[in-house]
Amino acid sequence: MTAGSLLDIQTPSVATHCPYCALQCGIFLTPTAAGATVTPNALFPVNKGGLCIKGWSAAATLAHPERLTQPLIRSGAGVLTPVTWDVALAEIAERFRAVTAAFGPDAIGVFGGGSLTNEKAYLLGKFARVALGTANIDYNGRFCMSSAAAAVNRALGLDRGLPFPLEDLPHASVILLAGGNPAETMPPIMQYFEAQQQNGGRLIVADPRRTATAAWAGRHLRLQPGTDAALANGLLHVLIRDGLVDEAFVRERTENFEDARRTAMTYWPERVERITGIEEAAIVEVAHALGRAPRAMILTARGPEQQAQGVNNALAYINVALAIGAVGKPQSGFGTLTGQGNGQGGREHGQKADQLPGYRLIENAADRRHMAGVWDVPESAIPHAGKSAFELLDALGTEVHALLIMGSNPVVSAPDALRVQQRLASLNTLIVADFFRSETAEHADIVLPAAQWAEESGTMTNLEGRVILRRRAIAPPLGVRTDLEILSAIAATLGRGRWFQYADEAAVFDELKRATAGATADYSGITYARIEEEDGVFWPCQTAASPGTPRLFADRFPTPSGRARFHATPHGEIADVRDGEFPLLLTTGRVLAQYQSGTQTRHTPELQAVSAEPFAEIHPVTAAHAGVVEGDALLLTTRRGTATFKARLTRTIREDTVFVPFHWNGDQSANRLTHAALDPISRMPEFKVCTVRVERAPLESAS
Ligand code: SF4
Repeated sequence: MTAGSLLDIQTPSVATHCPYCALQCGIFLTPTAAGATVTPNALFPVNKGGLCIKGWSAAATLAHPERLTQPLIRSGAGVLTPVTWDVALAEIAERFRAVTAAFGPDAIGVFGGGSLTNEKAYLLGKFARVALGTANIDYNGRFCMSSAAAAVNRALGLDRGLPFPLEDLPHASVILLAGGNPAETMPPIMQYFEAQQQNGGRLIVADPRRTATAAWAGRHLRLQPGTDAALANGLLHVLIRDGLVDEAFVRERTENFEDARRTAMTYWPERVERITGIEEAAIVEVAHALGRAPRAMILTARGPEQQAQGVNNALAYINVALAIGAVGKPQSGFGTLTGQGNGQGGREHGQKADQLPGYRLIENAADRRHMAGVWDVPESAIPHAGKSAFELLDALGTEVHALLIMGSNPVVSAPDALRVQQRLASLNTLIVADFFRSETAEHADIVLPAAQWAEESGTMTNLEGRVILRRRAIAPPLGVRTDLEILSAIAATLGRGRWFQYADEAAVFDELKRATAGATADYSGITYARIEEEDGVFWPCQTAASPGTPRLFADRFPTPSGRARFHATPHGEIADVRDGEFPLLLTTGRVLAQYQSGTQTRHTPELQAVSAEPFAEIHPVTAAHAGVVEGDALLLTTRRGTATFKARLTRTIREDTVFVPFHWNGDQSANRLTHAALDPISRMPEFKVCTVRVERAPLESAS
């Protein structure tokens, strides 16, 4: 019996999934008179009954009194005023037509999100290209997974966060986790690391902070933010020097090793110690542990990836995994821990400026022809590549004059947030579809009330590449529409309704399957029924008879040569300049009881009770230099802006580094401080490191 079928027999509950992170824990949602309650689904094979506080409290947003239930249009007096759907849709159509007439279709932008279901991500991409005819669509996942995605595509030929299921983790002898803190961000995953430890395996964590995960692991490499490539090159140096490279694997399954070797040989451990701050002996010990492990894994997360050299950093770690022959070997390998709920599927189905569904490429003639056939449009009508997420936001008011945002809150989540706010203010038209009046909605000209996770069905693809089904459990409040309904209605008002006739989400999924047929991320053998029967199906899955693909790369890599590719990955300096004025490093991240921009979690009383406000972690020695004691208001200043946080003194952070979580806005916005320098390949902003000055805040800030 599957996890989904059990509850249908016994309770009125619906088996569905948590709305938050990429673990996509299985839950039961039970409607009640006051809203709904959540209980864990012990039979779902990923979380096995585990949930974190975010999952337990996820129902709180559904019947929340601050839900948007009517469209709003900014009046002449500048106030967002309720209107009917007909009025809102007519206004959108008129404004889109006016902008297109004045500036062309690319002057309309579309900004999506990594929390949208596969169906919505697919439809948003189609809406941009077929209804609006704009090239300019991108999404907030560009701020999440794009560096890892670009790196694995280059090195391994296929981007799936984990190329193996979580059930492989307990069997790894050694796991190196770089820049991730799952003990806090997705606690149920720790059962896999605990099982690994019980099996005699080791977890090693590289992170500037001794996070909950690093403390649990017992082996912690406390590297300076922005030095991951140096660390990885140092590990490869020791592996080569001490004869721990898997020569047969390198010879038979890879190419270009010489480039990586030549670079790595300049990163001798003493030099790496000077760059990273990690003792030479520790570098040697970890390299030996990886090189001698029968089954080794290297996992990266946002720490190394959210940098202006994020692709280079991820490639450097992949070099290490390839050198020890771990990739494609059972219970071993390289993977990345996806962050957002549908961070995986969201990047596969056409929300990215340069991609079409199934990872098809928008500049590839055959891919364009395939999609033209599925969409029933001339190939020439499909726009070419548009601007990446930050470049799109930065072009607002100059090249892009109208923007539709769905499933994102960039006023809080984008880097250099004050600059983004100014850009949004310079738009002719900003339209936001959301279920709360998010900080971005507050800037909008038109706000559309959208359904939430439990109010519509759709598939998500979790961090393992397992396609799961989030089932509708309750009806949306009166006046609220699903994103499918919203996009179809706007398309109809623009005279493009013929391309957006869907009975329901399943009909969109059917079209998505045809769109991905024969592509890298092939979903064509997956059905809603199969997902329920099998507790998810791993892509690629080309036919109804295919079991799906839980494990990749066993025999060959999907590269032109069939081999994995090493890269030369020299360490580069961070984009910001560290000097007497800005002498420290700032790094940002998440806390257990908040999620991303906080639109949902800051509306959840149970989570607010745990984490109502942000803090700044600072080492006591650094705090003493600044004359700061525990609980003081700490003013952080970077070249972009200032923000104030309550000081939290801790020896778990490096003396040269300050940490703040990024879930808040206004004077507590971490992203007013962060740097928008972009990775040259992935266009990922440098969220994870910039230079900063700290001082006690003036008294009025502290009150
Ligand atoms: Fe939800 Fe992630 Fe927590 Fe699971 S770990 S309950 S998916 S937030």
